[in-house]
Amino acid sequence: MKPTSCPICGGPLRPTPYAAYDRLDTGDGPFTIVECPACCFGVTDPQLTNDELARYYAAGYYEGYYEHSGAGAAGPLHRLRARYRERSAARRNRRPPFELSDVKAGKVLDVGCGAGALLADFAQRGWTTFGIDPSAAAIAAAERRGARVHQGTLEDDPWPEESFELITMAHALEHIVDPVPTVERAVSRLAPGGLLAIEVPNWACWQRRLYRSRWAPLDLPRHQQHFSPRALERIASRFGLGVRDVGTSSTAISTAYSIHFLIAGRWTPGWKLWLSYAISLPLLPFVYLVDHFAGGDCCYAVLEKPR
Ligand SMILES: [Zn+2]
Repeated sequence: MKPTSCPICGGPLRPTPYAAYDRLDTGDGPFTIVECPACCFGVTDPQLTNDELARYYAAGYYEGYYEHSGAGAAGPLHRLRARYRERSAARRNRRPPFELSDVKAGKVLDVGCGAGALLADFAQRGWTTFGIDPSAAAIAAAERRGARVHQGTLEDDPWPEESFELITMAHALEHIVDPVPTVERAVSRLAPGGLLAIEVPNWACWQRRLYRSRWAPLDLPRHQQHFSPRALERIASRFGLGVRDVGTSSTAISTAYSIHFLIAGRWTPGWKLWLSYAISLPLLPFVYLVDHFAGGDCCYAVLEKPR
């Protein structure tokens, strides 16, 4: 379906020069992006239904792409990469918007929980953990890490209103077909004074302008929406939520993957991927320096439901 108006403010959408094929898996496309300039918010065109999107999440999506635990994941370089990824994931779980060290532990629900790594971290901090994900493989992994789980979405979850002190969405909202009703459902599940912590790729960042259609976090068509700090603040004001924190952060891996797409055009494990890591590594201090002043490739918000 062609998007006709901004899902956040209802305003007009304008075309952008971005057009990309599914670089990760199917090669389908081209998919384009239209933008609401008022919200600094991109919408993938066409908007796909959940059924249409399902084919873009191959069975190996979690294992192969995010966890690198698929076939051939042996040898010292692979072990080094696995250790690096573990450490950077641990760092991400303890920085904004998920740091929250001044918040009393209670019940946390992670929407789009994947394999449950963020929930496992919250469990270590004394939280009781709940997870939702449409993927059966992801849900099984999250359950093994101690979370109470539901395979599905916030549309069919079993938990009553005002159940949670905290709801997290770590790189989930950009995948969801109806992001604004999803936020509304999440807010209804929050106890009064509860927090909604969202992290998504930052459409407003300089790396997106640099790499354009090859900027890895576009991830078309799996990413149906493209948020910015301003878009998150506008969602907050739409639902009368307080903004406790809003900002940007940096991931090293998106630079490597964007360079990979410059070199290879699409996801090509093997020497082209290792070459992309090798090129990006010496660039990272520069990337972090520019991010510090111009904003990183992720953006986040911690929003508070009124009491
Ligand atoms: Zn808008």
